[in-house]
Amino acid sequence: MEYVHIPDTDLTVSRVALGTWAIGGWMWGGSDEREGIATIHAALDAGVTLIDTAPVYGFGRSEEIVGKALKEYGRRDKVRISTKVALAWKDGQVSRDASPARIEAEVEDSLRRLGVETIDIYFVHWPDGKVPFEETAAALERLRLSGKVRCVGVSNYDPAQMEAFRGRGRLSFCQPPYNLFERDMETAILPYCKRHGVALMTYGALCRGLLSGTMGPDREFTGDDLRRFDPKFAMPRFGQYLGAAEALAAWARQRHGKELLPFAVRWVLDQGVEVALWGGRRPAQMAPIGDIFDFALTAADFEAVNRILAEHVTDPVGPQFMAPPE
Ligand code: NAP
Repeated sequence: MEYVHIPDTDLTVSRVALGTWAIGGWMWGGSDEREGIATIHAALDAGVTLIDTAPVYGFGRSEEIVGKALKEYGRRDKVRISTKVALAWKDGQVSRDASPARIEAEVEDSLRRLGVETIDIYFVHWPDGKVPFEETAAALERLRLSGKVRCVGVSNYDPAQMEAFRGRGRLSFCQPPYNLFERDMETAILPYCKRHGVALMTYGALCRGLLSGTMGPDREFTGDDLRRFDPKFAMPRFGQYLGAAEALAAWARQRHGKELLPFAVRWVLDQGVEVALWGGRRPAQMAPIGDIFDFALTAADFEAVNRILAEHVTDPVGPQFMAPPE
């Protein structure tokens, strides 16, 4: 495992973090609590020290499972937790609410569900255009100064929104989507974060399993699994992405003797991202963690990736389908 110190904080975290959206079950066709806890323990055993969750993941369930897993594992001082704020839900419908009142109430719910006294990294989950960014930032800065959260991040924000936010509070992290198939953040978010010392904790390293090396055209998605309405997983486009994944896997094997999954995560880390989030809900899925840290990519790899993507993915689409309604 590699570890990174986050500037202007007392945080040092693993460069691969476990994402626990699927462990909450909602939008992933359900999940098993014991398996979720075992997955978190497997990640910690492999050297991961940062677990990412959110209240909306299973409407409190993911946070509760993370809390139970932490309690059973012990060593709270070695594990860092990031969670989020500013999404409300009613009857399964999600909406944005980054008002100070919601933030002040939600932090108490998250602390209780997680069973902790302080949240290590607290993210605004999605920008809320109804509330001035400065007001949201000021509310989070108050939480930071009170010690309820140790540092603050924003997720799915663009640079202008981050700029407004930074006027009223310290911003340590930005959490945008990023993987071999979803590269929008390279244009403006990455340079902005580098310029202003905001650490990147990017999400979706495996592109919802497309880059796991085990995805095929016959994989069936059940219940509320988001991949049933993810435009990447609809033919004929799904075929293009699977073709690209196959070509990338062949390249990774030939050049590095690696499978696609470690190659995909290494690629994210080697773009200058501080932390790559990788989601999972079964302990066996954590096995490849050990394969990520004994090689580095070169210019030839970056060129090959660009060539393979251009060759196979002629009708690309981003992750915008995931955005909650404005
Ligand atoms: P991801 O890392 O791109 O993909 C995760 C999925 O890949 C898993 O649920 C699993 O699906 C499959 N997988 C994982 N390891 C595997 C392995 N070893 N072999 C085969 N398949 C494997 O996706 P993500 O969960 O969307 O993103 C990661 C995390 O980022 C989330 O959990 C969450 O914490 C965070 N996130 C944040 C936002 C935001 O708005 N801030 C949005 C999305 C995600 P199956 O179990 O179905 O096979």
